[in-house]
Amino acid sequence: MENGRIKGVKYDFHSPPTSYLEGIISRGDRRLGQVILKAWQRGARFDGWGEYFKLDHYLLALEEARLDPEFYVSRRRGLDEVFPWDIIDTGVTSEFLKAERERAYQALPTLDCREEGCQDCGICSGLGVDLQVKGGC
Ligand code: SF4
Repeated sequence: MENGRIKGVKYDFHSPPTSYLEGIISRGDRRLGQVILKAWQRGARFDGWGEYFKLDHYLLALEEARLDPEFYVSRRRGLDEVFPWDIIDTGVTSEFLKAERERAYQALPTLDCREEGCQDCGICSGLGVDLQVKGGC
């Protein structure tokens, strides 16, 4: 490592205030519609440009709506909670994702089905895909 760089490793990062707002909106619910409107009324414009982005527009709008940003960003969620993206069917079963979560906590890798055989994620049967994997699916 030299000058904080690791050869062959490239990293990128967002500004924390931007990531914080992304956390709120990506995990948010329909109540955030009024927050986005209020933030816009407070002057939120061109938020993708750092020189225009002001998290305070959103924090004040959340306060005005009596919503706690931590509820969206840092609350520990139950395994069976409905998420905003649950309407998107990727084919991967929630049982597989829950098992993956446990494997991650145990620092266990998940094998590549193309090399090691079907890991039963649900995609092939769920989306009608017939991957040619070792040992079949
Ligand atoms: S073979 Fe299909 S169902 Fe099995 S792990 Fe791979 S993508 Fe998932």
